[in-house]
Amino acid sequence: MLPEKIIDMHTHPGYPVGELGKILDYMDERGIEKIVSLGASKGPEYNDRILKLREMAPERIIGGPCVDPRDPGALDELKRCHDKGCRILKLFPNFGFYPDEAQFVPFFEEVARMGFGILSHCGWLGAKRLSSVKYARPMRFEELFRRFPDTLFIMAHMGGISGFIEGIMYTTRTPNVYLDTTPGHSHWVFKHAGEMVRGMPVERLLLGTDGISPPSKDWDASKQYELIASEIDDLGWGEHLEDIYYNNAARVIEKYKLLP
Ligand SMILES: [Zn+2]
Repeated sequence: MLPEKIIDMHTHPGYPVGELGKILDYMDERGIEKIVSLGASKGPEYNDRILKLREMAPERIIGGPCVDPRDPGALDELKRCHDKGCRILKLFPNFGFYPDEAQFVPFFEEVARMGFGILSHCGWLGAKRLSSVKYARPMRFEELFRRFPDTLFIMAHMGGISGFIEGIMYTTRTPNVYLDTTPGHSHWVFKHAGEMVRGMPVERLLLGTDGISPPSKDWDASKQYELIASEIDDLGWGEHLEDIYYNNAARVIEKYKLLP
């Protein structure tokens, strides 16, 4: 049985602007109270979808635009989204930047000043563009975790298969770091490293699914709610399902003011 209320901290607006209502239908059908809707490395059109979706239901949609810190217009784009109430920055370091490089400190200072939390893709990324896991691991964020202790950091996909131990470690050392359950790395981690996962504080684990796009023949993210719940049960955390699916996220949203 799934919890009555769900907050999904990792989704993408996989419908064009004219069809965004389908995302709200999806939420209603599944008892999803709120979502974080995240940008992708697809340019500002994708961020526009998030802004539009927020306009449709500002109390339910946490906006998470994506920018590349190497892009000279990145901060302007973030300011534009901040003005529309977005408070999560989505990053894809896989495309070739180490987040902890000194050249990005001024960028992250501004991100923190604006009150954005940071959610980064971690681990393998099956993109057509040249991409590498080496950039996208929790360890490359450590200096940022520590430099910006009041900023929320979510290491997506459990930190990635190659990075989950790092992710788990930071949840036990730095108070502002969380992991999300987003597939597919999370399935591997839950299956092969369940005992290690229980080494992290359960309040640092947030539900994420990579919904909501039109279901395709080999991927229907709406099935993830049941699947992840059964994996959490298998690793012995069944009693914490409501925390992982709702309470932890509700606390994070309030603490980091993600819904202005
Ligand atoms: Zn994602």
